[in-house]
Amino acid sequence: MKIDIGSMTLSELEEYIVSIGESRFRAKQIYGWLCRGEDFDGMSNLSKPLRERLKNECYSGIPKIEQKFVSKVDGTVKYLFGFDDGECVESVVMFYKHGTTICISSQVGCRMGCKFCASTIGGKVRDLKPSEMLGQVVAAQKDIGERIDGIVMMGIGEPLDNYDNSIKFLKLVTSPDGLNIGARHISLSTSGVVDKIRKLEDENFQITLSISLHASNDERRSALMPVNKKWGVDELLSAVKHYFDSTGRRVSIEYTLIAGQNDSEADAKELCTLLRKYFGRQDALHINLIPVNPVRESGFSQGDRRSIEHFQKILTDMGLTATVRRTLGPDINASCGQLRRKATSDSAKA
Ligand code: SAH
Repeated sequence: MKIDIGSMTLSELEEYIVSIGESRFRAKQIYGWLCRGEDFDGMSNLSKPLRERLKNECYSGIPKIEQKFVSKVDGTVKYLFGFDDGECVESVVMFYKHGTTICISSQVGCRMGCKFCASTIGGKVRDLKPSEMLGQVVAAQKDIGERIDGIVMMGIGEPLDNYDNSIKFLKLVTSPDGLNIGARHISLSTSGVVDKIRKLEDENFQITLSISLHASNDERRSALMPVNKKWGVDELLSAVKHYFDSTGRRVSIEYTLIAGQNDSEADAKELCTLLRKYFGRQDALHINLIPVNPVRESGFSQGDRRSIEHFQKILTDMGLTATVRRTLGPDINASCGQLRRKATSDSAKA
């Protein structure tokens, strides 16, 4: 087992470096390289023997770019990143007027089983380490040659099903010793792991919590998202309300619109009634409507533009803030899960 130094804080790394008989200041040099996405071979201000030793004994978590796609439409970049054990995840870099954001993965595969999602089809393979979440950010940053300003934990995996590693990642990435990305520029998206939402509240981060709601009653939500059988809509929204009351941070509600499943006028009204019941104050929430990205295995499809706009109008007419998510990188299939699946099945065929 290699020592996972990419998951260490600067002071943990200093302690380690001193324990192997090196000077403390080396830790800062190594930390600087890791933050720039540079693996052991490229740490040019270290002696060759030290670089070799680190390479043999330590793990940086920085992945290799296995595949890269750049959208001709909007410049969005999608990566298939590979780790030392051969596992792959996807990350997407999006360029907005207000800054550059990366969507990162938190697990290899996922065990939540949401019916519309490509990431969960083969189940969960393993959790990502904090270094491997950080590694996606630094590797992308190095490749695009500019600073990443924001992060969304919305790629492959359920971050709250990998709780301790996700929390350590958040601490590392927001640290002034490290990338120093503002917590307010970070979103964590969850399918609704309620016990961990309660725990997250106590961590006192200034991040944005995104809830993948997708349906407004237990019957429909349980049919789409098995996690709802464990924690139903009422338990979920009560926890989210509590989270908002104690952190004061506006929560984002994700609602994937699937034709014929959850996108009727009655569904829109039910969603309004439900959200109003918990969040009387409209500024507590922002609703993101996401036209479903069709995944071959699910058979789900998008409604037409008019029905999506109609759904949105019902919400806004009732005083809720709702926007339809713009599709970025439409030509590179930028939403997550499908590229890894394809790469996994291609290598199985080879
Ligand atoms: N497990 C976390 C984060 C990863 S999924 C979560 O569930 O929130 C990120 C977002 O993409 C979630 O809102 C998820 O429901 C949504 N999503 C997954 N598959 C999708 C698809 N085929 N079309 C549209 N949105 C999808």
